[in-house]
Amino acid sequence: MFDSLSDRLTGALKDLRGKGRLSDADIDRTAREIRLALLEADVSLPVVRAFIARIKERAKGAEVSQALNPAQQVVKIVNEELVGILGGETRRVQFAKNPPTVIMLAGLQGAGKTTLAGKLGHWLKQQGHTPLLVACDLQRPGAVSQLQIVGERAGVPVFAPDPGTSIGQTGDLGTVSHGDPVAVARAGVAEARDHHYDVVVIDTAGRLGIDEELMGQASDIREATQPDEVLFVVDAMIGQDAVATAEAFQSGVGFTGVVLTKLDGDARGGAALSVREVTGQPIMFASSGEKLEDFDVFHPDRMASRILG
Ligand code: GDP
Repeated sequence: MFDSLSDRLTGALKDLRGKGRLSDADIDRTAREIRLALLEADVSLPVVRAFIARIKERAKGAEVSQALNPAQQVVKIVNEELVGILGGETRRVQFAKNPPTVIMLAGLQGAGKTTLAGKLGHWLKQQGHTPLLVACDLQRPGAVSQLQIVGERAGVPVFAPDPGTSIGQTGDLGTVSHGDPVAVARAGVAEARDHHYDVVVIDTAGRLGIDEELMGQASDIREATQPDEVLFVVDAMIGQDAVATAEAFQSGVGFTGVVLTKLDGDARGGAALSVREVTGQPIMFASSGEKLEDFDVFHPDRMASRILG
């Protein structure tokens, strides 16, 4: 991801090298190339417009610096603005003062929620937490057992209804009504409280497209469990659609942070660069593969450096 954007941006900025002073025309030309590079990378148009306006304004008004030549100064500005659209500071999970901390995952089917639940569980364990995964995707066939497999791999227990019965038996973990994801979510949180799990990760159902039932269900789970964090999980490969999806989840469910998945893909990366600006919510984690370890806290500064090569 970002390879071609990265090439284009470094190319545009390289042209400025060796110039003693930058004219407004130099800056305009560079800004145009950056604009094209961002649009080609599928960054949403309003985000590109605002970004370019800021770059131009700052580059034209830049103080003459002793330490940096004009080209370096523009690179610095572009870097800072990229960090800005990626969210600025690293945003960390807000853990509840009174455990359990509840983290709810929401997003379209196939976005990578179930995979993420395992990764998050694994990561939380590494951080010294005792997480419990809760299987509330009762829509997609196999989602519950997929979460159980992922949990096993991560060494994290899973609270889930038994798929074979109407009143589900969850092994040692209590009994809930099968088929009612809100009840499962509520029971999962109670289970965590009773057995001293300090973080609950709730996997929820997704649909192939946005629909009201999905939003209603996710919203009901949010209402019932009052999560400390609602993470909107989005496949970075879906390009521009990521923005529309994010907006729909923002108004339908609401979320406190974004997780970008499939950053290992060869898509152009515009989703990653748009979602923060469009929703105002920070990107908190990035997932870049199918293994448990292909996952990390999202650092805007590191991502900007990676993009600028
Ligand atoms: P869910 O429907 O949102 O729960 O999505 P899943 O967790 O089932 O993921 C859908 C597919 O994407 C699965 O085949 C996952 O293995 C795959 N997947 C999830 N995250 C990543 C990732 O970061 N990179 C890649 N390459 N594949 C991923």
